[in-house]
Amino acid sequence: MLDFDDAQQRLMGAAIPPSTTERVHLADALGRVLAHDLVALIDIPPADNSAMDGYALRFADYDAERTLPVQPAAYAGDVPEALKPGHAMRLFTGSLIPDDADTVVIQEECELDDKQALRILNPPTKGQHVRYQGEDMAQGRTILYAGTLLSSGHVAMLAAQGMAELEVFPKPKIGILTTGNELVAPGTPLKAGQIYNSNAPMLAALVEQMQAVVHRSVQAQDELPAIQEALQQLTQECDLVLTVGGVSVGDKDLVKPAIEAAGGSMNLWRVKMKPGKPVALAHLNDTPIVGLPGNPVSAYAVFILMVSPLLRALQGRTELCPPIHHFPLGGEQRFLGWREDFLRTRLQANATGQLEAVPHSQQFSNIINSLGWASGLARIPADVDTGPGDQVAFYDFNLWAY
Ligand code: AMP
Ligand code: MG
Repeated sequence: MLDFDDAQQRLMGAAIPPSTTERVHLADALGRVLAHDLVALIDIPPADNSAMDGYALRFADYDAERTLPVQPAAYAGDVPEALKPGHAMRLFTGSLIPDDADTVVIQEECELDDKQALRILNPPTKGQHVRYQGEDMAQGRTILYAGTLLSSGHVAMLAAQGMAELEVFPKPKIGILTTGNELVAPGTPLKAGQIYNSNAPMLAALVEQMQAVVHRSVQAQDELPAIQEALQQLTQECDLVLTVGGVSVGDKDLVKPAIEAAGGSMNLWRVKMKPGKPVALAHLNDTPIVGLPGNPVSAYAVFILMVSPLLRALQGRTELCPPIHHFPLGGEQRFLGWREDFLRTRLQANATGQLEAVPHSQQFSNIINSLGWASGLARIPADVDTGPGDQVAFYDFNLWAY
């Protein structure tokens, strides 16, 4: 049997990082992975400017007894004239600081006398309310690194830099193969003995959430030729193929024989984890195939914990494993098992406002409603008796499924 962490590492190692890049417009940058380090092309702000509505002055001209004649206002977007000695200039947020001014006083701390000259009510400090050129992003400095998944905050940085296009890695193409004579697609009436194929839409949703592309999803009957044909096609067209079900050693577990018949080789691992024990890694047509267990909860957990790092590597991302935070276990139950147990849990505040990872009441690997309820997986270490209040590692779906 393989330890969970080893299995996760081995899957990550199967990823071939992207070798090509593509150019996208800024409007399409969200969720893409940066292909090169980005250096600031310009200073941001491009010039010293005012953080407040008020008046610019030379700090040295301030004197509680003195009034300063006011020069014409400079609005954001104007290029102000230079500040004359002993003068002040009306400014607004974003207005450029005129040459020779070094300080801004806010309008609430000033008044104009009957000759429209400025009296400053509170002593200013030198440089107050000035935003300095380059203090945010300095020209020539690296502002973002290759392998960054671009967020809305990154889009703001790129836009502020005036970058209308950027180089990103292509989105990996994922193939999905579900197997089972019992499966029918949602939308068709169920006959006796049938169930709906929930894994294919679930995996497609996870893949999309992670900003990869579902290139093709195939549902095959439990027949060797059908599975073999699907695997040939998917591995030729895709960067990663996920198969579901049929990876145990039952009569109808045909994924391994199909890969071998097609000329590939497969490692079937019994991973010391619950849910999710059978996990397989194979290569066919130079494409990795990950075999997931058929039970929906197991397939979901294995995707989150073991496929998502591999997928991030295929995307060219540098952070393959998102952060894991620790919370006290909630609920009333104790857990003890011989393998790592990943409980479907939901972060909830207890009576004192402390967040706890509360386990779903049904922890069997066929319980699909637990997936809609949970917000992450709490890890109960093997052979450690763990109960309410004990700190557990929490794999947050909001981090691990993106
Ligand atoms: P298997 O690994 O093929 O023996 O499947 C294990 C369990 O998962 C069985 O109860 C299957 O009916 C169920 N299962 C397999 N594939 C799917 C699927 N795509 N959607 C829903 N349930 C599935
Ligand atoms: Mg099956």
